[in-house]
Amino acid sequence: MINLYIDFDGVILDTITVTYELMKKEGIDRENREEAIKFFQNLDWKYILSITPEINDSISCIQKLIDTKLFDISILTHVNSLHEAVEKVKFIRKYFKDITVIPVPKEISKTKMVQTEGSILVDDYAGNLREWESENGIAVRFSKKLNGKGFLVVDRLDQLIDMFSETVE
Ligand SMILES: [Mg+2]
Repeated sequence: MINLYIDFDGVILDTITVTYELMKKEGIDRENREEAIKFFQNLDWKYILSITPEINDSISCIQKLIDTKLFDISILTHVNSLHEAVEKVKFIRKYFKDITVIPVPKEISKTKMVQTEGSILVDDYAGNLREWESENGIAVRFSKKLNGKGFLVVDRLDQLIDMFSETVE
């Protein structure tokens, strides 16, 4: 088994698109860091998660990954508030009774929360992947356009099975 950490926003659910659209509607400037942070801290995550679509069958892909028994899977997600963490855990729990969910305070690198060496991180954000690689982790970019930005790349989570089935014992 190999540790596999899966990002939430932009990998499991398309929350990036949904929240950016909402910001636009509310006239919030994404480039204004303070405004953006405030927006995310006050966001009703229960509502957001209820309206946001899955990305490329992510839930059933995660079930497939579990079924292979190749990976020790955790969801590793940045959060801006405790409320966001609670709602994301509840969301994941609707589908998976026994999967590890690790909410990471936005201010802290994902690499500081878990053991990185030899572990896989699947994330849509290249910044997280760069940090992961610098801590000797295996970085895989999730990109709907299959743009790896220099990393291994998938656009469906079940592609990890072929990518790693020969490396994992
Ligand atoms: Mg993400």
